[in-house]
Amino acid sequence: MKIIVVHYSEIALKGNNRVYFEKQLVNNIRRACPRKSFREINRLRGRIVIYLSASCDTLEVQKSLATVFGVSHFSFGLFVNKDIETLKEEGWKLLKELTFGSFKVRTKRAQKEYPLTSVQINQQVGAFIVEKSGKKVDLGNSDETLFIEIAEKGALLYLEKVKGLGGLPVGTNEAAVSLLSSGIDSPVSSYMILKRGVKLIYAHFHSQPYTNPASQENTEKIIEQLTRFQLYAKAYFIPFIDIQKEIMAKAPSALRVLLYRRYMVRLSERIAKIENAKALVTGENVGQVASQTISNIRVVAEVTGLPILRPLAGFDKDEIIERAKEIGTFDISIQPYEDCCSLFVPKNPATKASPKELYLAEKSLEMDVLLDRAIEQSEIKEFRAASIEASKF
Ligand code: ATP
Ligand code: MG
Repeated sequence: MKIIVVHYSEIALKGNNRVYFEKQLVNNIRRACPRKSFREINRLRGRIVIYLSASCDTLEVQKSLATVFGVSHFSFGLFVNKDIETLKEEGWKLLKELTFGSFKVRTKRAQKEYPLTSVQINQQVGAFIVEKSGKKVDLGNSDETLFIEIAEKGALLYLEKVKGLGGLPVGTNEAAVSLLSSGIDSPVSSYMILKRGVKLIYAHFHSQPYTNPASQENTEKIIEQLTRFQLYAKAYFIPFIDIQKEIMAKAPSALRVLLYRRYMVRLSERIAKIENAKALVTGENVGQVASQTISNIRVVAEVTGLPILRPLAGFDKDEIIERAKEIGTFDISIQPYEDCCSLFVPKNPATKASPKELYLAEKSLEMDVLLDRAIEQSEIKEFRAASIEASKF
């Protein structure tokens, strides 16, 4: 039977939590792969084995596994009877599909009562393949390695490894709210935090009808891309224009952008409370724009008691762009859009605002009702990866 052996690295180190991490990874793999492609997915001593169905499109499964965090690498192979003659024949069947100059065989036995040692299996299967192929064994840098694992009910045979994304399975950490614009940075910061096993809820602030609905549509397309890695996500689209108008009418123009940000953070904190999320995530990057000096990052952060995760803080723009291209959000982010913060932006924004200035500016604002209304009028949308049917949630 055709199989894929999935290997994970970091989660194997998690001590007592290991079973929990493995189960979450199995769950995520099950949801990421097309349902018709596999018969069964099992945990097997530090590995996950996917038993493929006869009609499986292996390319499709490979594409799906390439979106699952927690997978360090995976290998295509076969599950066969474990007698030595079968190991020889089936091992050769796998290798003969490939072009190679040298090879080696590496065996592991979980079943120590197997009549041959690992070294004997290596030697016997190796000798059989040399005889069939005329190729040589190289125990150092061989072109191909045939892996054999003797398990209870049979043996796993597999070949080369395809690299996975690494990271931790989504859902193994607590939830966070990610402030997502349709710009280049925040999709990348979201991706990086998803990769640490955190489940994200997205918060997007828009200024419709003053801004074009395209900004929200782009954000939705970005969330669709990110949902390939998360499988299921919820997003809040929050009307922000009334809050901006209040700020424009009453606060010094140099502080506008910082005030927008502070109210975005406060509203995101409310969403975090509703969703039982324990942190916020932003695409802030030290020094990139006027609003991102250390002083300004500080005055924005001080309005919340939640930690703000800023995975891009130390990145260069080039590095962020490279990541955005890899995860499929760059082309969406560079489409022309009007962000709510590019509306009504002053010519000379404050670069080193003090907490006191902002406190004084906010004293004159009547925000309570506007903040409540922004949450009430938020539109909540759910996103699902293509492999997931609505009924699974
Ligand atoms: P991005 O590329 O993510 O838009 P940026 O470099 O343009 O970031 P800013 O515009 O200063 O930087 O925004 C800083 C962060 O504030 C963003 O990374 C994002 O997390 C959040 N943010 C900005 N605008 C919005 C918005 N309209 N909705 C939700 N979050 C936003
Ligand atoms: Mg932006």
